[in-house]
Formats: sequence, C-alpha cells, structure tokens
Amino acid sequence: MALVSAKKAAAAVAVALTGTTLAAYGAYAAQTSSAAGPPSPSASRPIVATSSASPLASPPPSQSASPPSPAAPSSSAAAWPSGPGSASAGSSKGFTVSNALQFNTEDGGRSVALTFDDGPDPRWTPKVLALLAQHHAKATFCEIGPNAQRHPDLTKAVVAAGHRLCDHSVHHNERQSSMPLDYNVHEITDAQREISDAAGPGAKLWYYRAPGGDFKPVIRDIAAQHGLRPIGWSDDSDDWKRPGVAGILQNINRNLHPGSIVLMHDGGGDRSQSIAALAKLLDQLDAQGYTYSFPAR
Ligand SMILES: [Zn+2]
Repeated sequence: MALVSAKKAAAAVAVALTGTTLAAYGAYAAQTSSAAGPPSPSASRPIVATSSASPLASPPPSQSASPPSPAAPSSSAAAWPSGPGSASAGSSKGFTVSNALQFNTEDGGRSVALTFDDGPDPRWTPKVLALLAQHHAKATFCEIGPNAQRHPDLTKAVVAAGHRLCDHSVHHNERQSSMPLDYNVHEITDAQREISDAAGPGAKLWYYRAPGGDFKPVIRDIAAQHGLRPIGWSDDSDDWKRPGVAGILQNINRNLHPGSIVLMHDGGGDRSQSIAALAKLLDQLDAQGYTYSFPAR
C-alpha cells in the first residue's frame, strides 16, 4: 500500500532529521498500517509527539518537552518557518480565508477562545459540552474526521450548542508536511468532508488545526484554499500529558491573557483530568470576568 510505505519513508526522514527515534510516530504508523478501518485515537496512541526535536521549530527552553508549538507569538514566532503572521498573497492561490496562523479571538477584549482537539469521543465530549453549557461558554472543537464519522451525534451536538467546528485531519499525522502534497490535500479535505457529513447540512467548518502544530506554509495554504483558517494556540494546557488537574491549570494560566486561544483535548485518551480541570477553569474565567469567544477567522 503506497500510503503505508510513504508513511514509513516519512518516519525515516523524520528520524534522520531529528536524530530521535520518534517511537510515538512509529507506533502510530504501525497502528494505522495494520488497522482495517480508520485509526482510533485510543488511549495508547500518543496524540502529540513527545520529542522536542523537530525539523520545524526549536521550542524555547521552557517548552523543551513540548511539541512544536505555535504558541506565544511574542516569544516563539521566529521559530516558525515564516512566522505566524506571514500570509501569502491570497488571490493568486485561491484562498478564501487568510492562510496566516490565527492567535487571537474574534471578539477581542477580555475574551478567550477555548479549543478542544482530537474528539469527538463519547466518553469525554458530552462532559465538555455539559460543562460549557453550565457556564454559557462557547468553544471550538477540532475534530478528527474518522471520529466524527463514528460519532456524528456528537458532532451534531457540538453544532447544536452553538460551538464551532475545526478540521483536525484524518490520521493525525504530526509530520504531515513531510509528506507529498496530494497526501496533505487528502488529510485536510477528506476530514473536512467527513466532519461536514457528520455535522449535517448547513453546518460550517471554520478552521484547520494541524496535528502537532505542523503548520508549514504548504499546510496553511491548503487549509486556506478550502476555506479553513489555520488556528494556533497561545495557551497549551498539555493536558494530554496528564500532569494532574493543578498542573493543567498552571499550564493554562502561565500565559493566559485577554485574547488567549486555549488548547485542551476531548479525545485521544483518558481525559478525566482535562474534564476536572475544565470545570475549575470555567469557574476561574467567570470569576475573572472573561467572556467566551472563538478564534478570529
Ligand atoms: Zn491533536
């Protein structure tokens, strides 16, 4: 299968580039190659690579254990290949939205945009939706296409509650930009179709978030050509590492500010800590007078 061999080749290239084993990626590729159906973001699959070595970016020392992150434009923008604000000329490339990585909220002011990646998941997404409803909070859900296909009721529930949908690819390949153009187009547009089908007629996909923050220009261009604004994050909860509820809140609060885009997860493993942290975060944000917005488009 050409796709599988291409994945292996990409893994080999990544190893050569980074000098790390990228065991997580290898396990992921093995899983997808043996699976009859779409890969499941099971508890065992590392959703975000733990290697700090990346051909894409050099995280600052404080984020040495983090994946390449589009966070904190003031401190790490230079680590991005062309910077988060570097939009290419849209008209010549057929963009319907900007291809620049978005770090700000739509409403501005004292608002935050909560984002939840890797779902939908029947164990966790309903809990997130219930908490958001309690606080009259709106959020953005970056869904993996096959997960939406498996749980269209959850994708519909997200839309019905007034939240926004974001494309998070088909296979959650955190090195997708190392793959051929055609592969990347399919990763983005197939998921777009899967999530749209799950959401039902009239539902809109607003954004694209690249797995692992792999936002090289080619990826942002494809997204923008298909009407999906690339969105980054300014506050990485690192909840997938399960550092404990207090740890998740500490990670978020480290850089929390008006206009923050907060990254959390409602899929990809045991998210019980994420749920508990979200409950506390919403109490905190309410008490601090924050309002809830979406990433600006
Ligand atoms: Zn993800």
